[in-house]
Amino acid sequence: MTPRTQHANPIVKCIVNTCNHYLPGDKCVAENIDILNEEVNHMSQNAEQTMCKTFAQKSGIANYLGTLDNKNWDGLVSAFKPGTQITPTVTCIVDTCKYWEQGDVCIAESIEVTGHDSRECQDTNCQTFAKRNE
Ligand code: SF4
Ligand code: SF4
Repeated sequence: MTPRTQHANPIVKCIVNTCNHYLPGDKCVAENIDILNEEVNHMSQNAEQTMCKTFAQKSGIANYLGTLDNKNWDGLVSAFKPGTQITPTVTCIVDTCKYWEQGDVCIAESIEVTGHDSRECQDTNCQTFAKRNE
């Protein structure tokens, strides 16, 4: 298991119910999520142009097993203790966002990943994206 990073990391709230890493209560049990631009050579100008690349569609046990190496096991063990918020580390390359910092770090206190009933990662968004002033 990769060690948890020490830099600032937002609390992740996610409503993507069709993702293998989704846990009821708007939680994400992935160890790490990657937030990317939807199009490789097009820097995001709004939230709809971002995506959670770590989305993995729920489609049976084989697919579920394929995502087990990116599960936040420590967080899962403590997830049901009162007052505990399970959350993944966030790696983000969307440098047009005001919360982005060198090292692909997100300095927002929390982020919201949206895309209820998503079928592919392009259907998801980092709703917290806010355009950086030029
Ligand atoms: S869509 Fe992304 S943030 Fe949401 S549960 Fe899946 S991996 Fe986690
Ligand atoms: S808020 Fe901005 S920097 Fe943070 S994950 Fe979303 S797009 Fe990336």
